[in-house]
Amino acid sequence: MVRKFPLERVRNIGVIAHIDAGKTTTTERMLFYTQKIRRMGEVHDGAATMDWMDQERERGITITAAATTCFWDDHQINVIDTPGHIDFTAEVQRSLRVLDGGVVIFDAVAGVEPQSETVWRQADRFNVPRICFINKMDRLGADFDRTVQMIVDRLKAQPVPIQMPVGAESEFAGIIDLIEMRAVTYLDDLGAEVRETAVIPSDCAQEAERLRRNLVERVAETNTELTEKFIMEEEIVAEELRAALRQATVRGELVPVLCGSALKNKGVQPLLDAVVDYLPSPLDVPPMMGIDPKTKAPVECPSDPKAPFAALAFKIVTDPYVGRLAYLRVYSGTINSGANTYNATKGKKERAGRLLQMHANQREEIDSLTAGDIGAVLGLKNTFTGDTLSDPGRQVVLETIRFPEPVISVAVEPKTKADQDKMADALRKLAEEDPTFQVRVDETTGQTLISGMGELHLEVLVTRMIREFSVTVKVGRPQVAYRETITRPGRARGRFVRQTGGHGQYGDVVLEVEPLSKGMGFQFESRIRGGAIPLEYIPAVERGTRGCLDSGVLAGYPMVDLKVTLVDGSYHDVDSSEMAFKVAASMALKEAVQKATPVLLEPVVELEVVAPEEFIGDVVGELSSRRGSIESME
Ligand code: GDP
Repeated sequence: MVRKFPLERVRNIGVIAHIDAGKTTTTERMLFYTQKIRRMGEVHDGAATMDWMDQERERGITITAAATTCFWDDHQINVIDTPGHIDFTAEVQRSLRVLDGGVVIFDAVAGVEPQSETVWRQADRFNVPRICFINKMDRLGADFDRTVQMIVDRLKAQPVPIQMPVGAESEFAGIIDLIEMRAVTYLDDLGAEVRETAVIPSDCAQEAERLRRNLVERVAETNTELTEKFIMEEEIVAEELRAALRQATVRGELVPVLCGSALKNKGVQPLLDAVVDYLPSPLDVPPMMGIDPKTKAPVECPSDPKAPFAALAFKIVTDPYVGRLAYLRVYSGTINSGANTYNATKGKKERAGRLLQMHANQREEIDSLTAGDIGAVLGLKNTFTGDTLSDPGRQVVLETIRFPEPVISVAVEPKTKADQDKMADALRKLAEEDPTFQVRVDETTGQTLISGMGELHLEVLVTRMIREFSVTVKVGRPQVAYRETITRPGRARGRFVRQTGGHGQYGDVVLEVEPLSKGMGFQFESRIRGGAIPLEYIPAVERGTRGCLDSGVLAGYPMVDLKVTLVDGSYHDVDSSEMAFKVAASMALKEAVQKATPVLLEPVVELEVVAPEEFIGDVVGELSSRRGSIESME
């Protein structure tokens, strides 16, 4: 049984970072100090606790967002692990959607890297309050001030240091807590023995005073009471400062900045304190909004255990031991194990099995999950990523998570006959876990094509197929996921007529096609008036056109962003059938598209390259040779 804390003592946080900034190491240290893990695994020797999938260990990157619960200072902290690699941005997005606050980690040497900017902007979009941890202060070239300045310049944020480092590089010894004005130094390598003193080392004293003044001034600006005190030069005590900084952080006005070295176990406990002190509880963030699936009326889902139940399934994982796990963020109400619930997105009843709270790869069974909680539930059959579970008596659909379209695909082929069925099963399960991973069978070649967000993404999925599902496959060359569309209107007639004695076939339609703007998908309209085609055959015409969309006329890629209008046609009293109209429609569509100047659409990505000046020429050459167009250089 887990210890239960009142909601104001719950923190749902994500650790967000550029790859290699030290997210895994920091998360792991946090878990270590919260007493949930016994020993520290190092990323470089491959025993990291958060990196629970075998291959994550090998690759040294964290791929799956695992939610882990730990306890610190009488608070419950749910850590949602977010991946750092660009190929997995969908994972980052979905975790941002369900967490209340973020710890953003920077490498004190590299500073703000391009991908940190991407993630930062996403966090802005989801209004996620943040604190920053400037990690790797022990590395050669570590620079606290420069990194803070980069947060201002590149992220246009309002960082305010609440700590400063004592020493740097190999001399990095600890931190000065600018709120309490005390020095915290670490005496051993495990960070277990800590010396705290109100005596600030003399070589830091001046800088500490300056940063303290800056802190007080910046915080006072956000709070009328403190502004007055500040102007009157009255003393502002640590408690007041913390409370006002908490409010400013939760409102997104300020970003407290801390520093340390996760690897050397320095600064991690104060980071946990800061999570508790400054990041919001589920009560501090605005209530989640949803809509009633029937009336479309807005429904508010307050963080209240007694309100009707509402939760978002943000991840589906097939666990080799316990089965299909759905990770839930509960916004309102309570769900008990074994309870009947309702998937409002799919309009289906669901029965919850056991409820689990996760600690990396260990799990703990619990009786209930309530508002503000993050946990996993077993036994849901029809629930997928992005679905809302709600009280059967008060249905609500929360805003779903939107994912980008895949950009690359490869053909996979089972090595042996025995692998064939296993492969289909494995692909289905993997696609269920990951909405940016798609599987389809190419009609013309019969090949199975898997598509995803990048080569690494697909490589990881193929490796998982081999490891977790024991399927051996042959993998083809990666191919770009092209689409086809049309660039101007076109019109054509399709006639499918067979009169071979007895019952014949007769379908005749005239279709017009026109381009739609990007992302509009497919639209169908019938403008048949006066019965040129009986109403009963019109759905067959639509089906016939939709059936052609999977395979375009140019190179067989799916067709997107076009509108088809049925304008005319004729029928035969005896010989007409749905079948005949369907075939006629597909003949007409193919011809109309041919006349509408079809084109191939290629996925375009925005890329930022950081390189030393002497390599600029090579980089530009390389980009141009790959048809890259350069938008700006600085
Ligand atoms: P992630 O990719 O963000 O999860 O980063 P990891 O936690 O895997 O760390 C990347 C590398 O940086 C690993 O080799 C770590 O050992 C190393 N590392 C992490 N934190 C520190 C630190 O505080 N100081 C130093 N010197 N290295 C660190």
